[in-house]
Amino acid sequence: MNPHLLFWIPAGLRLSFILAGAGILWYFFGHLVGLMAAVGGLCTLLIVQLHYLYKLSDWLNDPSSSRLPDGWGAWTDIFSRLYKLRRGDEKNQAELTEWLTRFRQAMSLLPDGVVIMDDVLFLEWCNPAAERHLGLRLDRDKGMRVTNLIRSPEFMDYIILGRYGQPLTLSLRERKLIVQIIPFENRRQILVTHDATETERIEMMRRDFIANASHELRTPLTVINGFLEIADSQPDLDVKTRMAHLKLMMEQGQRMQNLVEDMLTLTRLESVEYPLRPERVNIHALLEQIHQEAMALSAGRHKVTLEIDGPDIMGGAEELRSAFSNLVSNAVRYTPQEGSIHIAWQMKEQGPQFMVKDTGIGIRPEHISRLTERFYRVDKSRSRETQGTGLGLAIVKHVLLRHDALLAIESEPGQGSTFIVKFPQKAIGDV
Ligand code: ADP
Repeated sequence: MNPHLLFWIPAGLRLSFILAGAGILWYFFGHLVGLMAAVGGLCTLLIVQLHYLYKLSDWLNDPSSSRLPDGWGAWTDIFSRLYKLRRGDEKNQAELTEWLTRFRQAMSLLPDGVVIMDDVLFLEWCNPAAERHLGLRLDRDKGMRVTNLIRSPEFMDYIILGRYGQPLTLSLRERKLIVQIIPFENRRQILVTHDATETERIEMMRRDFIANASHELRTPLTVINGFLEIADSQPDLDVKTRMAHLKLMMEQGQRMQNLVEDMLTLTRLESVEYPLRPERVNIHALLEQIHQEAMALSAGRHKVTLEIDGPDIMGGAEELRSAFSNLVSNAVRYTPQEGSIHIAWQMKEQGPQFMVKDTGIGIRPEHISRLTERFYRVDKSRSRETQGTGLGLAIVKHVLLRHDALLAIESEPGQGSTFIVKFPQKAIGDV
């Protein structure tokens, strides 16, 4: 039925009942009684209405603390509709709170920073990543102007120029950040921050590596080209000089080959496409072979000894061979004639370990932490004289990383060095 009729018919009926009752009393007992009955009935109706009005006003003051009464007449419908509205409101509120909690959780897990600001850059909200990147603290900085919080001339220029279509690279608190402002709604802006420090570092390493590798390859190439030019311009050079030139060219060719091979080994070791496939490594046979190679490289100039007192391990045989042989050949190359080199495989409490001890030139302490960097050499000319590529210890580092092993270096200049590779207990596996 029409809701207006639903309201007016009962109200009209109630009034008619009062007036009809008063009329009957008027008829039987005279006009005074009739009037009094009419006034009494209307007053009662008024008091009832006022009572429910009071209840409604009381409930509106604090809807959550008191219950709505059941009501009477039209009030029953009003109260029931208000109750339904309130239930709907509570449901919406609960949904909104849940959604907000989920949004905050997602935002706090985000590796990128998000800052919400108003149209004049006052901070309204930010996630933990933005706090880390920009040095903000939401509880302390809320309501402050972002340009007062991020003190960087580049950022100020970015705001002044307002070229928000492009991201800005910012150096802030020893980080490289990529930031961008995105306007949204009419009166709000989002500042997004991305930490590019690691990417930048990798990119710089890549650039350095290419520059170093080109430099390393250019030197032998220049030498070879030089001799080729001499051969071309002086065809009647005597055989002895020509043979000497050829020997030098072959040495440089060999140097380039070593370099390219080491670079390829490093690339392979770093590549995720070549995961380590552990196999049983016959340490005895491997070290015997390395011992023989060391003696051949030394050509009788050193005393090279081998001691094996430990179990076989699980690992990449070829990779371990490459790492161990790099360490042993370094010991031979950096130990003057008559010196001694001791190679040992031992079982220690924390796991098996490989050790190469030499009585060579030693290394000053300030160089030790940098030795495993690519192309890092303490003495460039000595490394080149002995066919060093500057990549040997970088290869060792990568092989050990893949085997969860650690490299310890002890050295005293003029006295000698000890390189120890410590494997974890689990390397023994169930061999
Ligand atoms: P390289 O091909 O130059 O030997 P490596 O990466 O194998 O490159 O070694 C890096 C540097 O560490 C060497 O240039 C050398 O200065 C130093 N080094 C490595 N092993 C020894 C050692 N046993 N004794 C002294 N210095 C060493």
